[in-house]
Amino acid sequence: MVLIYRAQRLPFAWWRSLLLLALSLLTAANAWSWGAQGHEVIAAVAWQRLTPPARQEVSRLLALEPGQTLVSIATWADEHRSPATGVWHYVNFPRSSCNYDPVRDCPDGRCVVAAIAHQRAVLASQADDAQRLKALKYLVHLVGDVHQPLHAGYQDDRGGNRFQLQAWMHARNLHAVWDSGLLRSMDLDNEAVASLLEAMPVASHAPDVDPVHMAQESCRIVGQPGFYPDAGVNAAYTQRFTPVLRQRLGLAATRLAAMINAAVVQSQGEQNRSAIASLPLLPSSPVTSTDREK
Ligand SMILES: [Zn+2]
Repeated sequence: MVLIYRAQRLPFAWWRSLLLLALSLLTAANAWSWGAQGHEVIAAVAWQRLTPPARQEVSRLLALEPGQTLVSIATWADEHRSPATGVWHYVNFPRSSCNYDPVRDCPDGRCVVAAIAHQRAVLASQADDAQRLKALKYLVHLVGDVHQPLHAGYQDDRGGNRFQLQAWMHARNLHAVWDSGLLRSMDLDNEAVASLLEAMPVASHAPDVDPVHMAQESCRIVGQPGFYPDAGVNAAYTQRFTPVLRQRLGLAATRLAAMINAAVVQSQGEQNRSAIASLPLLPSSPVTSTDREK
């Protein structure tokens, strides 16, 4: 009651300022990475593509935080950004080249490409469960981010954040259009988008899980003529780039699943090896020259 009474007394200008503040915070959140929908859909489709042992292992790690799912942890990395980890969500290329140069584009490993490689290695290792769960949270998120073309864009406009335009009758920036606007314009819930992605043909060869390639592909999309629209986001832009968006989401999901599947195999292989190594040595017969040849 007290709250209501006070609320009623707030002048209209106050309410308007509060509303604008809330809206600007939402926009700022959107500028971080795919909106929640993009990350959640990628995680949902990836989950469908995990092998049974990988699902079992992921579920075992998630059980450290009861109630969590691969989908629910997909935005954790944005919710826990710090100045130190903020740079893990993107990589900048010069306008002249999409050829990744780690010294130039990822000094001290401070970019999404190195962060993915690191987190994948932790998940594939024998680190303790808490560390591997954290690595999984980062991996699920960052593999999504690197497939958002503007997370591998240009430094001078902060990955399209400084490119203002009109989209769906509102002032936006291009980064936000790609984080969430285009996906939202499809007007589908997570389940429907996931079904669309699951129906996409999967290449017969093993997915390319090199984060360098993922970033370079994104950069090349940003460099396509018309990616930065002259006349705002209109129907022609949406028609042209929505299939690109779908393809990036689908690729992210397929590759993420392949990375988790492989990491689980590697981690369990190492566990088995060390378990075997720790077994008491069996008395063995002397090795003969014939044995060596076998
Ligand atoms: Zn992010």
